Amino acid sequence: MIDLRSDTVTQPTAGMREAIAGAAVGDDVFGDDPTVNALEAYVADLLGKEAAVFMPSGTMTNQIALRVHTEPGDEVILESEAHIYYYEGGAPAALSGVMCRLIKGDRGIFTAADLRSVLRPEDSHFPRTKLVCLENTHNRGGGKIFPLAGIEAIAQVCREQGLMLHLDGARFWNACVATGVADAVYAKPFDTVSVCFSKGLGAPIGSALAGSKEMMARARRFRKMFGGGMRQAGLMAAGALYGLKHQRDRLAEDHANAKVLAEGLSQIEGIEITPEQVETNLVVFHMPTMAAQIVVGRLQEKGVAMLAVGSHSIRAVTNLMVTRAQVEQVPEMIKAAMQA
Ligand SMILES: *Cc1c(COP(=O)(O)O)cnc(C)c1O
Repeated sequence: MIDLRSDTVTQPTAGMREAIAGAAVGDDVFGDDPTVNALEAYVADLLGKEAAVFMPSGTMTNQIALRVHTEPGDEVILESEAHIYYYEGGAPAALSGVMCRLIKGDRGIFTAADLRSVLRPEDSHFPRTKLVCLENTHNRGGGKIFPLAGIEAIAQVCREQGLMLHLDGARFWNACVATGVADAVYAKPFDTVSVCFSKGLGAPIGSALAGSKEMMARARRFRKMFGGGMRQAGLMAAGALYGLKHQRDRLAEDHANAKVLAEGLSQIEGIEITPEQVETNLVVFHMPTMAAQIVVGRLQEKGVAMLAVGSHSIRAVTNLMVTRAQVEQVPEMIKAAMQA
């Protein structure tokens, strides 16, 4: 199977399995797990933050960040297709009791001027705006990179207005590798950053939240409250550390494979895609005259898995399980599936 549904389908490599099997562990709720402690220190240092907290999932990491920065009734500003708003089961309302105010972006990207346009003066009629969330790279934006200058301009508005700024960095490493911007530089404008180990890095489980010591102490409290306190979690942290140290730079291969796929698809009649817009490992293409579900079903029978993300839109995500040679076969297979 050429599995392009997501970069979460990645399985632990032989080296990663070895690191997991040999990991020293302890009870992390008591702070005793040396591998979790090592991962948290490594992530905090890499992102230039005081501290980090290991978490079971990216969703929990984002939702704990919301809870850390807000009280019920507060308002959070997000891009209209942000993962936190779109794909996290209504958690902002259910777990933090916050209101979401949306800004329509361009493939996930909005500007400091867009942010200013939705801010309101202090007045008891209005909810209190506390937090702005950005996403880099942007999932529903097709893996679009949030340019550093745009982030810095938004951070400036946040500082002026006393707003916190959180990054959903599930694919933060993809943005760093694709741009060459150092992790700590890309993370600096944010009060908190969430990162995932279970996507392109190939670890089986895990995410982390990074920020100030004070915020991370609060995050640890909410992690327990949300049911995310884990015991011998060093087994999972070992996979995450291995992915960070040995499988981060290779994300460039995923990006190159995505470009090859996009260029192949752009040659097929009936497919709409702009290869220049494929900046990282997500490839979204449109087929105005075909039902996406039907094409996905036919591809599945031929051994290629992708996701329909709209009635005429399909997503393919390159990842460490898929080679260049496999990617090169895919456009022909799609062409055949469209004609079948
Ligand atoms: C996958 C993803 C998450 C959450 O990840 P889970 O670990 O599956 O909960 C959060 N944000 C973005 C942008 C994602 O793509």
